[in-house]
Amino acid sequence: MPKAQETVLEIDLKALKHNFEYLKSKLNNTTKFLAVAKAFAYGNDANTIAKYLEGLNVEYFAVAYTNEGVALRKAGIKTPILVLHPLSANFKAIIEHRLEPSLYSWKIFNEFISAASIENQTHYPVHIKFNTGLNRLGFNEHDVDNIISKLNDTSAIQVTSIFSHLAASEDLNEKAFTLKQVDSFKNIINNVLAKLDYKPMFHLCNTSGILNYPEAHFDMVRSGIGLYGFGNSKKENKHLKPIATLKTVISQIHTIKKGASVGYNRGFKSDSEQKIATLPIGHADGIGRQYGQGNGFVFINSKRAPIVGNVCMDMIMVNVTDIDCNEGDEVIVFGQNASAEALAETANTISYELITAISQRIKRIILR
Ligand SMILES: *Cc1c(COP(=O)(O)O)cnc(C)c1O
Repeated sequence: MPKAQETVLEIDLKALKHNFEYLKSKLNNTTKFLAVAKAFAYGNDANTIAKYLEGLNVEYFAVAYTNEGVALRKAGIKTPILVLHPLSANFKAIIEHRLEPSLYSWKIFNEFISAASIENQTHYPVHIKFNTGLNRLGFNEHDVDNIISKLNDTSAIQVTSIFSHLAASEDLNEKAFTLKQVDSFKNIINNVLAKLDYKPMFHLCNTSGILNYPEAHFDMVRSGIGLYGFGNSKKENKHLKPIATLKTVISQIHTIKKGASVGYNRGFKSDSEQKIATLPIGHADGIGRQYGQGNGFVFINSKRAPIVGNVCMDMIMVNVTDIDCNEGDEVIVFGQNASAEALAETANTISYELITAISQRIKRIILR
């Protein structure tokens, strides 16, 4: 591929297909696949990715917020879209765009039934979210009876699925806790099946759940990070390919003398002559200030160049004293051979945060 001449995020659809097929290979033939496309498909490009995955016949998409689902509909996505975190103010748009809300509290449940009734909807597809230990969103196990009696009183909505979310599926030290969540979900399933006169789908697993808890796949799984190439473990990372490569270039190189400083607030002071390269990417692009002061690094001609001083809004400076390089040379921030997970660790964070932070002002280039 051509060398970058400005800051770009390259998105490799072949890698996406590879990850999708790897994750699918972990499922039974009958288990459905929901692709999580929230937050611009984890900072990549939600429309392109959703269109591509629709072509690979994923059964479902999920987004966090309603406007993300509206954007996918406007891009022509016809596959069902679960909105994980709707708010009452969004119900009109949800119905208008045939998005499927997660109903996670009594307030949202009752208000959505009213909204669907006012819009003359019958059997509008909804999903009921249960809290089995994450304590974030969802009904409790003991709410099942009341939910079902409410459902029997209305024809405005129909439950397409019942789901919950694991708190620590990537952490095998928390296996006992996760298995308790699985048990609690099974109790919910049994109770629902005993009382509801139709059978919704049941789903629990995110990416690490798919990989670590094959016994808990139920009718569908929900994968985000795995599709984008991260498995939350060294073992699984070997099977997955990061789909995004963040590239930039060297704008300028300065040779600074002993005692000189670099950047705002003189964040770096050199104790010898140093060669410093300035790159056109900063905290407004998603490289937070935590990566500064020698924590984060980039790759130039396959060598590591640490970020020196403070990250600026639109630029970083990196130390290239020991690297043979020139103005205009390509720089790799992360990609298939420069793990975003390793870079994220230098700022005490995780791949999810680094990749979703890559700002929309960076041009996306799609490799097909
Ligand atoms: C974001 C999200 C997922 C996807 O999780 P990954 O770890 O990225 O696979 C699945 N389910 C819910 C409810 C989520 O919020």
